[in-house]
Amino acid sequence: DLAAWQRGLRAQFPIVTANPDLAYLDSAATAQKPQPVLDAVMTYLTGENANAARGTYPWANRTTARVEQARDRLRAFLGDPDPGRSGVHFVSGATEGLRTVARDWLTPQLRDGDEIVVAHADHRANIVAWQEAADVARARGDRVTLVPMPYDGAHDYDAARLADLVTPRTRLIAATHVHHVYGNDMHVSRLRAAAGPGVPICLDAAQSVGHMPVSVAELDADFLVFSGHKAMALPGTGAIWSRNRRGPVFRPGGWQGTPNTAGIVSLAAALDWLDMAGLDQIAAWTRDLAARLTNGLAGLDAYEVLGCQTSLTAESAVQRRQGIVTFRHRAIGSNDLGFILAADGFLIRADGHCQGEEGEKTSSVRVSLHVHNTVEEIDRLIDRLAALNDA
Ligand code: PMP
Repeated sequence: DLAAWQRGLRAQFPIVTANPDLAYLDSAATAQKPQPVLDAVMTYLTGENANAARGTYPWANRTTARVEQARDRLRAFLGDPDPGRSGVHFVSGATEGLRTVARDWLTPQLRDGDEIVVAHADHRANIVAWQEAADVARARGDRVTLVPMPYDGAHDYDAARLADLVTPRTRLIAATHVHHVYGNDMHVSRLRAAAGPGVPICLDAAQSVGHMPVSVAELDADFLVFSGHKAMALPGTGAIWSRNRRGPVFRPGGWQGTPNTAGIVSLAAALDWLDMAGLDQIAAWTRDLAARLTNGLAGLDAYEVLGCQTSLTAESAVQRRQGIVTFRHRAIGSNDLGFILAADGFLIRADGHCQGEEGEKTSSVRVSLHVHNTVEEIDRLIDRLAALNDA
């Protein structure tokens, strides 16, 4: 049964069990680490820590092998249909990953008149990277424009309208898999049909990898970038998966510099743990908690939930809200609400959430969930929010 399954997993997060009075509700910023991930790092650092691709002694060789195994582990985790062709490049997180694709892969190919399609409502990391590519091209005399992808916050990308935006000059479509403020699954697998077979698609999967099953075969993207630390690996981890870029095609970080070996070990261990736990069940658990919170807020007139308004449970809905619920109080500022909730042990994010232009307008409070969160935590939060309803 699901409750027993969840209790068993929750017990594996030492930071959670050590702090029973705190509810960690900020997994979209960074995820907590289960004990087996911490153990894997300790075993590595105390057993065979060495630099990779350097030595002639066993620790160095084993470290090199661990990094290569982690690449293969990630390919398998992402359901890579052609692991003999794809590339895995380790980075410090989604921001560096997106900038690396932009700088090392896209920028050199940009020519005068080229276009990049990107949604202004996405995370700033997924806008700035492409803006910089366009700026570098412009500085050398090639005018490159960013074409805004239609998206109103309450739905997924408007794939029908996207088809009109794609021209022979479209060099890339930059999309987000799950939105970090609205929590929507953006249904990016539909983008391929709208884009046609020849246009590269780069996905920011920072909020999906580690939270739900992610299959690069299904998504049909050319690049998929994510943050390992949001998928229960150590801080300073992340990766770029690329459909056909096997080998160290990007600048340092591959074998041209010292990789984050302990971080990479933690990432492989985190992927093992997530597979063991079951990503379908994790996604269902966090979606149900999000729906419970959304329902609770629907009964409190002081609160406005951003993004899709419907409370969604699993398969029934077209726009599925994943484990993220973002809202505002009509009278209490979002930062104040954040402090009030923190004083009561609810660790949540309050501000503009690094969203592009939108974020500046819409300061809000975000609750983001993972498998260690409980129904009791959500009900306690709803009670606290209800007590503030008439403030
Ligand atoms: N994209 C999205 C959708 C995100 O949620 C985040 C993290 N908030 C990032 C990119 C940036 O990730 P990182 O800070 O790990 O580089």
